[in-house]
Amino acid sequence: MPEPAQKGETIFRGIPVSAGVCRGKILVLGKSQTAVPRREVAEAAMAEEISRLEKALILTRQQILEVQRKVSTGMGAEEGGIFDAHLLVLEDRTLLDEVIRNIQEANVNAEYAFHVVAEKYASTLAAIEDDYLRERATDMRDVTARILNNLMGRQEEVDLKKLTEPCIIISYDLTPSTTAQLDRKTVLGFATDIGGRTSHTAIMARSLRIPAVVGLKGASNQLETGQNALLDGYNGVVIINPTDQTLFEYGQIIRKQVSLEEKLRDIQAKPAITLDGHRVILSANVEQATDAEEVRANGAEGVGLFRTEFLFINREVTPTEEEQYRAYRQVVAALNPEPVVIRTLDLGGDKFLSHLQVPTEMNPFLGWRAIRYCLQEKVVFRTQLRAILRASADGNVKMMYPMISGLEELNQANAVLETCKVELRAEKVPFNENMEVGAMIEIPSAVLVANSLAKRLKFFSLGTNDLIQYTLAVDRMNEKVAHLYEPTHPAIVRLIKATVDAARKAGIWVGVCGEMAGDPVLTPLLLGLGVDELSAAPPLVPSIKFLIRRLKMSEAKVLAEFALNCESAPEILARCQEFTREIAPSLFEGKL
Ligand code: PEP
Ligand code: MG
Repeated sequence: MPEPAQKGETIFRGIPVSAGVCRGKILVLGKSQTAVPRREVAEAAMAEEISRLEKALILTRQQILEVQRKVSTGMGAEEGGIFDAHLLVLEDRTLLDEVIRNIQEANVNAEYAFHVVAEKYASTLAAIEDDYLRERATDMRDVTARILNNLMGRQEEVDLKKLTEPCIIISYDLTPSTTAQLDRKTVLGFATDIGGRTSHTAIMARSLRIPAVVGLKGASNQLETGQNALLDGYNGVVIINPTDQTLFEYGQIIRKQVSLEEKLRDIQAKPAITLDGHRVILSANVEQATDAEEVRANGAEGVGLFRTEFLFINREVTPTEEEQYRAYRQVVAALNPEPVVIRTLDLGGDKFLSHLQVPTEMNPFLGWRAIRYCLQEKVVFRTQLRAILRASADGNVKMMYPMISGLEELNQANAVLETCKVELRAEKVPFNENMEVGAMIEIPSAVLVANSLAKRLKFFSLGTNDLIQYTLAVDRMNEKVAHLYEPTHPAIVRLIKATVDAARKAGIWVGVCGEMAGDPVLTPLLLGLGVDELSAAPPLVPSIKFLIRRLKMSEAKVLAEFALNCESAPEILARCQEFTREIAPSLFEGKL
């Protein structure tokens, strides 16, 4: 809910997900849909205009069939049948003939003609006292919106790649694939009504260094494009029409941030070592091959998580083995001899690939995701494994499987890996025979069988984003339950400890690549619990290093001991906050 603040100013509060403050005009997505332009069309251009309409109708039909296929597979034939009514609108000769007549007789553009005629039919149907006919009016409006989008080339209202003026985007939601395409030059920041800190949209924002706030509830409905705003990604606030006093206060915060960034730059090339000499492996998470530069620039030693699924999205066809090999090699060669942990495809959850025909599911995070998908879609899996193996000849590659829930999945995945190795040997293609293979620990069952997994692996990487979601039964995407998403929940602390214990017993190392690793408040806790490596989005790495260099391992162990014996998540969090603010106060000065 908005808060009236000082005169003329309105404050919206949400969840801070990507640090930074920005100021500018807002662009509200989803509101520009209503305006349908009217243009005069000359006689000579008439045939072209009608052909434009026909092409849009064909495209709309394909889109509806695709949605229908996904709904039928995911929810059942009956639900899919709903779209038959939409398809019928596209075949309604009376309607289409009238639209064409309108274009020809009124000399207007196709979108305008379609809008006028379809709205006339829809409002007539809607006015009749008959539920069936009223529903047909809704169908007609749905299909019309789709046709108009196609005619106007509005895939998702506004093409975010073609923005000319810098702006702050306000939207109900942004998909991870849309976020991946945002350009920092034109998108100063963004805020969404829904979402949580560990959604892939939020992860992308941090990786791109775009200040972002999610979970603003109904803000997108209450705001208008063009309003002046200040977005504070440190505190999760969007301020509309900020007063001079507010701007002054933010000026102070920004000055403190600039001076902190200078301090952080000073330690860029220094090791991540505690005051009492404990060396921590500090790595970075990357999503695209081009992120490699950011890894060194931010003082990370290597890559602890390469989320390969971002190579697969925003495109029409699956990347070939050669294309994947080149992308992996680019990162591996750039960072050699530092390690690069490549994670096999983690499709599903909130990451969907339009071209891979994945059906809509009721519970995508519990469904056909990650290793489950790969073990069934063997061609996709083998192609990737071959590409990763080939890249292992070019540097220090380690590979891990996501979403391992038990030993059978691990054995099956390793069996596919073996067949790829046999093939490559026969083809005399070089690869590292001793490439380390690990697993993400992100499902509680994996922790409970960690001893069995550890015997067959070289490392574990704790995916705390999912581990928290699956352990606490809290959707990581849902702002309504975000208050229950507690990284310091005693259950999470104990699961991390159990994972470390199993790894120690088998003599393998443990990293954390979930967002907990990028929160300096939690760094002492994780290190005190015995984690060997932390891997975070490149822009977060300097703060983590800063904190490590001000920490004593002996104190971190005391903190972890406290957490292991504590029964309350807020108490553990409070102790972590108190401790980190004491040893590194300047890291937290951007907080209001
Ligand atoms: C995790 O779950 O913590 C993780 C690192 O994987 P992702 O965020 O890609 O699901
Ligand atoms: Mg995960």
